[in-house]
Amino acid sequence: MINLKNSTRRFMPPIFSLTILLSLPATTLNADEDYNPEALKSGRVDPSMHLQQGSNQTQAHKINEVIYKATGFGNTFMVVTDEGNVIIDTSLPGMAPKHKSLLNAVDDGPVHSIIITHGHGDHTGGVALWREPQTKVIAQENMVEFLRYQKRLKGLFIQRNSAQFGFDLTSATSSSASESAGVNMLPNTLFDKRLNFTLGKEKFEVLHTPAETYDALTLWMPEYKAAFVGDLFYRSFPNIYTLRGTKPRWALDYIASIDRVLALGPEILLPSHGEPILGNENITAEMTRYRDAIQYVHDQTVVGMNQGRDVYSLMREIKLPAALDVGEAYGWVSWSVRGIYEGYMGWFDGDPVNMYAESPRSIYPDLVSLAGGAKQVISLAEQHLSEGDSVKALLLIEAAMAAEPNNQAVLAVRLRILTALRQASSNLNESGWLNHGIKQTQKKLKKSDKVL
Ligand SMILES: [Zn+2]
Repeated sequence: MINLKNSTRRFMPPIFSLTILLSLPATTLNADEDYNPEALKSGRVDPSMHLQQGSNQTQAHKINEVIYKATGFGNTFMVVTDEGNVIIDTSLPGMAPKHKSLLNAVDDGPVHSIIITHGHGDHTGGVALWREPQTKVIAQENMVEFLRYQKRLKGLFIQRNSAQFGFDLTSATSSSASESAGVNMLPNTLFDKRLNFTLGKEKFEVLHTPAETYDALTLWMPEYKAAFVGDLFYRSFPNIYTLRGTKPRWALDYIASIDRVLALGPEILLPSHGEPILGNENITAEMTRYRDAIQYVHDQTVVGMNQGRDVYSLMREIKLPAALDVGEAYGWVSWSVRGIYEGYMGWFDGDPVNMYAESPRSIYPDLVSLAGGAKQVISLAEQHLSEGDSVKALLLIEAAMAAEPNNQAVLAVRLRILTALRQASSNLNESGWLNHGIKQTQKKLKKSDKVL
């Protein structure tokens, strides 16, 4: 919970057993590090800062006469009706109590329904908190399997999320309270393609719009032409592959679902991350550009695949044209190229050497020895680094580390390379993984006693 009156501000969501993705333990927010959207746009802040979004808000944002929004890394929306309220998404567990108190200050009527746009933890984190005995928890039917998938792999997802979002695994323990919250966040009302209902004067149409996940939905309120699209739209290229790990995300699903929303003629677009977009002209312009950017990357990848091009070449070469440049603060085009390529074809690249259970790393010590030892490799890595080719430098250091894992000079150069990459990064996820690499290297450097 966030208590803005305390001098040390703790952001301490519990860990939910079924909401593995983005279930985050403690991070601190100091007085001079309050959430700053402009700083975040640059990507040059600690990624955990993104999770503090909305921590300063003192009241819910009124979108229109019935729709309200509480802001967070994941937003929570509330629709007020005469027959109870509808909550759309519930943010992260740590932010949910604040969102609930802000929205309850607007209207504390019974919660008729909670609509979960998909089963990621930054959307399901407050379901148990909002839920009342009579509440319908509405989700697309694929969410059941999606939650099982996250639970099945929770050991790995916790590690990956802690690395990507920069929290300490030692504090990522579950409690009995979180176990019961896990059960209490399960949906009790599932639908396949569409679910319509009316509450008081308000009409709700819930549509299956798969994209980032196969359980994703959009809530459409025809009276207001308002579309609650969950993660179907970001103000950045999307994560068609996310580094913390995911099943394939199908680019063509994004396109079909965006078209479905555009065909409704929305006047109010309410994404679960970031700010609303108002006016059909603005929405159409932004969503069309976003859709076309995805289509372009998909099509270029498919063309390259059919030409027999390898995935690394396509990752380097495929760039968004200026007219479709939606930014890469969140997703990254090159990861998406690889996500699309390997989503379609899997991991084997057609080279017999890659059929076998032997990593290329296994022969790095031999190569380093042939080069005359780690010292020679460091020298070439430093040359690449000084010429601005940090990634090649990092690859060479990988080889040196395979040969001499505790060599302090090797680790020191690795730290310099990762730091240079971090300083140049303007992408949330890249920064997160570089921070992780920096921390790991610093730890090893401290432990290391062997000097070259
Ligand atoms: Zn999300």
